[in-house]
Amino acid sequence: MPDTRGGENETCTFCGKGRYKVQSLVSGPPGVNICNECIEICNTILVEEDRKQSLAASDSAPLARDSIPSPSKIKTYLDDYVIGQEQPKRILAVAVHNHYKRLFHQSQGEDHDGVELEKSNVLLIGPTGSGKTLLARTLARFLDVPFAIGDATSLTEAGYVGEDVENLLLKLLQAADFNLERAQKGIVFIDEIDKVGRTNQNVSITRDVSGEGVQQALLKMLEGSVANVPPQGGRKHPEQQYIAIDTTNILFICGGTFVGLEEIVGRRIGRSMIGFGDDADTDAIKIPTGEGERNADLLRQADIDDLVHYGMIPELLGRLPVNTVLNPLDAEDLVQVMTRPKNAIVRQFQKFFEMEGGRLAFTTEALLQIADTALARKTGVRALRAILEEILVDTLYTLPESQGTRDFLVTAPMVRGDKPIRARRRAKPRKKVSKKKPA
Ligand code: ADP
Repeated sequence: MPDTRGGENETCTFCGKGRYKVQSLVSGPPGVNICNECIEICNTILVEEDRKQSLAASDSAPLARDSIPSPSKIKTYLDDYVIGQEQPKRILAVAVHNHYKRLFHQSQGEDHDGVELEKSNVLLIGPTGSGKTLLARTLARFLDVPFAIGDATSLTEAGYVGEDVENLLLKLLQAADFNLERAQKGIVFIDEIDKVGRTNQNVSITRDVSGEGVQQALLKMLEGSVANVPPQGGRKHPEQQYIAIDTTNILFICGGTFVGLEEIVGRRIGRSMIGFGDDADTDAIKIPTGEGERNADLLRQADIDDLVHYGMIPELLGRLPVNTVLNPLDAEDLVQVMTRPKNAIVRQFQKFFEMEGGRLAFTTEALLQIADTALARKTGVRALRAILEEILVDTLYTLPESQGTRDFLVTAPMVRGDKPIRARRRAKPRKKVSKKKPA
């Protein structure tokens, strides 16, 4: 094994990066070094293993009270992946914690004290791209439970053209590798729940026209029942074999944008509509959507009656006792979305450059410029990747064959297209005085 100690030739034994490519390099026995990045990765692996082991133990063993993750632990995990949304994160963390407590309570024999704890399915109200799906997905990853996403608009009442509600459970079963036990403790995220409102005008004659039928079917599933799921999916037919899934312990998280709900709230509380009338309240938080600006303050005041008015059936809302409103992401949030989460988009692009022996950095102004461009496109967070691709495509095209340095600093004028992106000259590494001579 080559001795990597001593001066400039030192490399990390794990990733092979040289000492000048990393922040620090820790030396072990002769010829063995590890860089700060690999230490961080190893640490993440160990923490993840630890978490999985304790969750696996709690999966098979009767649920122990101490093993229920605390709301603050759940929220801390969500913080690593989801920017902002403090209140929704807290509310979700408590809901999930209580969900586990309920399972614990059941494992103690439900009737021992006569108190029956109800399931806390969650309703998330917020604009497109505010992190509703991300929250549900991240939660499932933390809990290491199977996770399935469905779209309420693709569902229909049995007997009509479209997907049966049970297909959502099939997705969950598939996510659990057909382990029924695991699937029955999973999380299902149902998006666009607002689109199956009673008042929804649907012109199809083969579909459930009112949307109410879908809500009724969802209600049954949400309140806890045994659903017969066709293992091949598709429509049910009488000769088919079914898998019976008990939905009692499945956590359902429903999401919807509820466009126009604030008008209903506004009318109820007798205020002139903000953003719709002349006397607009300038302090109100506006939600940018494809449909125009919305008012998050009003949305936050929405109650069950408003949602019923919107078209949701009260019984279904009764099965979604926890609800919370997500904020729109502003430019600063978008900068964080691009840079902070572990799999942030900027980090992903930096990885591509690193793989070519280069470096990619952005000035703060450049990141803000990208965020502003995304907001102007009305698709917000979803536009970020496309914008970054547009900015970097030429550089990525030439990078693998380019000669010379491959270090890039993207500035605001470059984002605006006023200046081309050019490689920077790399500063010469300072000579290091080696303590030991290389062997
Ligand atoms: P929604 O379900 O509210 O329409 P998503 O959760 O699907 O939005 O968000 C789409 C993508 O945008 C996510 O996969 C994520 O990359 C990014 N994103 C959205 N909101 C956030 C957030 N609050 N924090 C970090 N990333 C976010």
